Amino acid sequence: MELTIAQKLDALLKLQSLDSQLDELIKIRGGLPEEVRDLEDDIAGFETRIGKFQGEIKTLEEEIERNRVAKKDAEKLITKYKDQQMNVRNNREFDAISKEIELQSLEIELVEKRGNESQFRVRGKEEEIKTTQAALNERKEDLKAKKQELDQITSESQEEEKEIIKQRDQQATTIIEPRLLNSYKKIRGNALNGLAVVMVKRGACGGCFNVVPPQRQADIKDKKKIIVCEHCGRIFADVEGVPEPALTGRGR
Ligand SMILES: [Zn+2]
Repeated sequence: MELTIAQKLDALLKLQSLDSQLDELIKIRGGLPEEVRDLEDDIAGFETRIGKFQGEIKTLEEEIERNRVAKKDAEKLITKYKDQQMNVRNNREFDAISKEIELQSLEIELVEKRGNESQFRVRGKEEEIKTTQAALNERKEDLKAKKQELDQITSESQEEEKEIIKQRDQQATTIIEPRLLNSYKKIRGNALNGLAVVMVKRGACGGCFNVVPPQRQADIKDKKKIIVCEHCGRIFADVEGVPEPALTGRGR
């Protein structure tokens, strides 16, 4: 059965009201989902950073171990050379071994210095891990709180939302013809406040607040055809209250 224009406008207004209720529910949930995502990104970033520091510490510790072994080897050589010095046959041999001992002593100094540097860098990395870990823990606490808040708001509004969506889909698919529904969606998509169907309120468009001339208001109230706002393109469902008295035309 073909609907009259008045029935089509009623159906559109009902659809608009349901969509506006959904918009409101989503607004109540606000930026929480985004905040949760941001926090999760931060946490993943901090965890990656800590992992990187731990990898660097492992490399440094391997270096420290190599230096420790090198020092031990040099000390063993020095002990061995000192034993040999006891049994030298002449000064020349003694001096040659002294030189070797001196070289190994320098080697010990070098690997000790390198070892200390590595130790110092390990402590730096550990400090960075500590700072990062503190920031990570803070974000984790924030995330827990935000998630709880989101869960609560979501569960509170979920039932309501489901019911509205059901009504909305029924309204959209069974009552409103596809061509009209498409215009509605297009207008709604372009409107910042999500309003595609508005009332004329106190002589002005309920969407963009531009004045609607009295004759136009009278035509809107007649509901003989679908009239859109010439400024914003929104569909006029009706005129709220009594139309402003027309200066020309039918003299309502
Ligand atoms: Zn308008």
